[in-house]
Amino acid sequence: MNKRHAIKALLVVLLAAAVNPAVAWGPVSHISLSYEAGVKNGFPVSDDLLGAYLAGSTEPDVGLDDGKSEDYGVYHSEDFAKAMETVAMSKESPDREILLARAAGMRSHMAGDSAAHGKTGYAEAKIMFPDIQSGLPKHTTNELIVDMIMYDRNKEALKKQSLNFIDVDTLIEIRKEYSRMTGKELKNDRDALKKELLNHRAMVLTELSLAHHLSSSDPAKLSQMKEEYSDLNLGTTDGNGADKAVARIAEQAKSSENLSSFKTTNKGFKIKDYLNNSLLAKSMQALERGALKLTKSSAIRDSLQSFAVGKVEAGRNKAFVNFGVNLLNKDLSFKQAVVLAGKATSGYPEDQAQKLAYLEIEAEALKAQRDKAQADYNNRPWWKFWLYFTNSDKEKYEKLEAQYQAKLREIDTIRAQIAADASVTLVSDADYAAAVSECAEKAAQSDTAAGLADLQAAVDAAYKKYVAAAETQNQAAAKAAEQELNQARENLKAAMQH
Ligand SMILES: [Zn+2]
Repeated sequence: MNKRHAIKALLVVLLAAAVNPAVAWGPVSHISLSYEAGVKNGFPVSDDLLGAYLAGSTEPDVGLDDGKSEDYGVYHSEDFAKAMETVAMSKESPDREILLARAAGMRSHMAGDSAAHGKTGYAEAKIMFPDIQSGLPKHTTNELIVDMIMYDRNKEALKKQSLNFIDVDTLIEIRKEYSRMTGKELKNDRDALKKELLNHRAMVLTELSLAHHLSSSDPAKLSQMKEEYSDLNLGTTDGNGADKAVARIAEQAKSSENLSSFKTTNKGFKIKDYLNNSLLAKSMQALERGALKLTKSSAIRDSLQSFAVGKVEAGRNKAFVNFGVNLLNKDLSFKQAVVLAGKATSGYPEDQAQKLAYLEIEAEALKAQRDKAQADYNNRPWWKFWLYFTNSDKEKYEKLEAQYQAKLREIDTIRAQIAADASVTLVSDADYAAAVSECAEKAAQSDTAAGLADLQAAVDAAYKKYVAAAETQNQAAAKAAEQELNQARENLKAAMQH
């Protein structure tokens, strides 16, 4: 494995989702919804046929990975499910039962979609962080997050399941039967169809792998996501959630004697084995353990993003790719991952308070990078002798330090501006009187309460002192000056919050 694999695998998922707003639920959600419906009301097939049933529940979306598919309507039709069953009846066991189970899975997909298409669908209706303009494509972002949540809540069960995907020759047989039944001709380019099937399989497995990685390595972020998407089951006031999809799937699932008791040795491959062995899962683990972290290495992140920029045109889709990368970055909270992804492509929001929130999130991220670079520089190992000549670690630290300080200055400026704006927005005499008595109270509480202007001046002075200390390269003095500066900033911040 190498990091290119991880990059490519991540892009398969992100790009497929970014160009593809036609879908109601992502593939992992379809698998999970079908599974949850089965647990609730019974599965239409036996355990041995679940692999075909669950893989089938993703397969109407085959061919959608590069944006649109001529076959979308075909695969999402009752006629196609019937054609599949007709072909199944011409086969020997176990191919017959496997294909019948797959047809049941395709029906489950359509039932799930029926509860979520168009404006009333959760992916379309859900708005996360309503107070933030994230600049992310709403539909695709919701779908990806829902896939991660749905995997997490079914993780233990799904790990024990298999997935058995359709092969190209059987697909062509069914397409021909569909044409015979309906009179609609379909192109049957074997190579093109084979490629679509491979892409589909890669996408489902990669997304499972990503979901698994996030769920096992960053449970904190997942619970933040679940909290923000706590209406997933019931739906928003405008859109239907997972409960309705599960109910629709359970409603239409008919079990037959033959399929419910069927036993076979052909089950496809185990999800658990895949998760343990897949290139992506392995590379994630390797990256996780080793020094090279997928999202911490700027080399990887930059190449991922510049590659994506060539493939994805719209700003919001670039933001989506950023979001995917941020999602895997453990240093960022869920909200930070959202905010920073959108900001990178659409700039700061107009609203000053929102801009301040963006700046603070950026400053936090810069500080983490600065601390890391500083530690690397201070603990420069003897064997990295070239660093004594290039000083590239020192330069990196200084560059990040300068960026961080510049960000803090921006924050100070905008805070002062907000404070100034606030002081002239008193609207009535009553407000004014209330403000006066509040000030009087505060002054009475503390004689030393400094005005905002004084606090701002203290910050500026501390900053100058800090720069001077940093220039002397005296670590102890720089550290002390930094503490003083931080204290001054905290004082200003605290005063403004009163
Ligand atoms: Zn669909």
